[in-house]
Amino acid sequence: STARKRELTVADTTCTYCGVGCRFELYGRGEEILGVRPADPDRTPANDFSTCVKGKFGYDYVGSDERLTTPLVREDGEFREASWDEALDLVAERLTEVREEHGADSLAVTSSSKSTNEANFLAQKFARQVLGTPHVDNCTRLCHSSTVAALKQTVGYGAMTNRINEDVGETDCYLITGSNTTESHPVLATRIVQNVRDGADLFVFDPRKMTVADHADQYTRTRPGTDIAWLNGMMRHIVEEDLYDEAFVEERTRQFDDLVETVEPYTPDLVEEVSGVPPADLERAAETIARSETCVYGWAMGLTQHSHGTRNALAIANLALLCGHVGKPRSGLSPFRGQNNVQGGGGDMGPIPNNLPGYQPVDDEDVLDRFEASWGVRPPDRVGLRITDMFSAVPGVEETVSGRSEADAYGGDEPGTDEEDRGTEDPGADEGYTPENTDVRGMYIVGENPALSEPDVQHAEEALEALDLLVVQELFMTETAEHADVVLPAASMAEKYGTVTNTERRIQLVRPAAESPGEARTDVAILQDLAGRLGFDWGYGSPDDVMDEINELTPIYGGVTHERLEERGEGLQWPCWDEDHPGTPYLYEDEFNFDDGLARFVPSELPDELYPLATEEYPFTLTTGRVLYHWHTGSMTRRGTASMKQVPESFVTIHPEAAERLGVVDDEYVSVESRQGEVVVRANVEETSGPDVLFIPMHFVHGAVNRLTKEELDPLSKIPEYKVTNVRVRPLGRE
Ligand code: SF4
Repeated sequence: STARKRELTVADTTCTYCGVGCRFELYGRGEEILGVRPADPDRTPANDFSTCVKGKFGYDYVGSDERLTTPLVREDGEFREASWDEALDLVAERLTEVREEHGADSLAVTSSSKSTNEANFLAQKFARQVLGTPHVDNCTRLCHSSTVAALKQTVGYGAMTNRINEDVGETDCYLITGSNTTESHPVLATRIVQNVRDGADLFVFDPRKMTVADHADQYTRTRPGTDIAWLNGMMRHIVEEDLYDEAFVEERTRQFDDLVETVEPYTPDLVEEVSGVPPADLERAAETIARSETCVYGWAMGLTQHSHGTRNALAIANLALLCGHVGKPRSGLSPFRGQNNVQGGGGDMGPIPNNLPGYQPVDDEDVLDRFEASWGVRPPDRVGLRITDMFSAVPGVEETVSGRSEADAYGGDEPGTDEEDRGTEDPGADEGYTPENTDVRGMYIVGENPALSEPDVQHAEEALEALDLLVVQELFMTETAEHADVVLPAASMAEKYGTVTNTERRIQLVRPAAESPGEARTDVAILQDLAGRLGFDWGYGSPDDVMDEINELTPIYGGVTHERLEERGEGLQWPCWDEDHPGTPYLYEDEFNFDDGLARFVPSELPDELYPLATEEYPFTLTTGRVLYHWHTGSMTRRGTASMKQVPESFVTIHPEAAERLGVVDDEYVSVESRQGEVVVRANVEETSGPDVLFIPMHFVHGAVNRLTKEELDPLSKIPEYKVTNVRVRPLGRE
């Protein structure tokens, strides 16, 4: 009613954007968000009073005219409006048809790191229980899956080991690499910069000199994709100078000798030749880090999004262990997670093909027994396809061109594939389902936009078109939804109740401040309705009931109840085993997450042959990433006034020397071309990267950078190589 619409709603909630997990009060009226105000600092553990520009001004998308308000069904090539009953009956019928004709494993589900833990738990339950398919994954595959694969092998849990404020914000020293912290995790970056001003040391190694490097004691420009060389070189120096933490290595780790042997060839000369890191920089950083009582190792996509991403993450984990900087306060391994719920919804809740919720292996009989007892159906016990492989498994789609074959890329075995050495049963690799032996014919996509986020999007688009059935559950008619047979309108984060888990494993509440437009419904409601039409009466009365089931089936969330979160402003950090458990602020204080309690050094070497940074035909290396004002594929921020005012379109950064060589002037349009495709974008002539490295952000449809990237995957985690693409540039003149 109009009276109700005029009512002001104030929700104590968690930010919809990044993994820092800032909390604030969100003001809504009807379908609109009016603004954001700081909340009581007792209830804002990650941010106190701070928020960044996205948290403060990034809510236009909620009330956007472009929100989907009714289910849409494709008929004769066009979308037409449909009732929920019609749309969901159709989806149920078509899913059943595909399953009957081609088997359950011809269906795949992708869930969303932007939705709640409760919704993600249900998305994987929908895949495994209702559809019976093992193929369920989400966009964490594209960001930190290599981190997860590496940390599971070395320390046990695929997660940040420490806290934002008390540890990252208070350490003596930082090594930050491959992270544009100031733009991607702004409030966290503010903490770091403040602590550096108060005297902490900061070392930044990165191909791009981002703002965080302005505050560094030392910024070292590296060549993209060569991090293993300088990380191993540092470890070699630390061992040689006897600067490592002997007691820690002796008492809390194993396989030290293997590490020493592996890093031995990484002499300062070799490191400089491969990575471009001068010996003096290497030694200074290595010595300061090793001598620091505490140190935080921060990284993001620059380290992970490589076709050897797992090896990169192993190398940084090895370094932190060597220096004894894990398992104590003010230290630790800090992979900065991207989306607001990529840790929880993307990982902890199990919408990943190798793990049931809580990182429980899909082939563990005891675990399967427990799920079967609860669900009445035994979940599939084989590891399904990763999202990056799902698109290659659609029949009739040509193979994508990578520029070289996977066999050329890797010589020898992947590190850590020996079971005893890695101390875990499944780091992510599996020989079962592959795109070669699997046909994916139907996809159910919850809140993902692979038509912009996949590498080589031409290939993803072709696959989306070739599917027998594509259902997309979304806020907007995204580039992916345009290919769908049925589009289901979903509620945004500002319209629902549930939990999200930030980068420091902290589970916090989100609460509704606005009403959903038209007939849009929450992911939980849609999935439950659809499950019912497919013969599974879930019977949840509210997200609280879903959390009860999470408690029962996910040991690390055993004591995380909505009731406790309502009372505790500071949320709860997992593992939280039962209702009396206070949560775990930092991991591995007493033991690592292995049976023997010891961490593993899993030595990591450069691949035999690195992907070439340039060729004669394609003389530049292109890297991709984010900018402060936008978010991922831009489906939310491209609908926001503040963000579009600041950065209205895509661009490529070009170093002045290269610009001069090419005859490119600032602000003119240029063509950037790779083996995969071509885009036209505006040139930003600036010195962020070296003369051979270009950068294009990932947020735009015109100038979509993933028209250029290739589908070359890390063999263990299947993360794509987004950071090294060979390209050439042609000026087009001012327009
Ligand atoms: Fe939101 Fe991240 Fe900005 Fe905090 S730093 S307000 S969580 S986008």
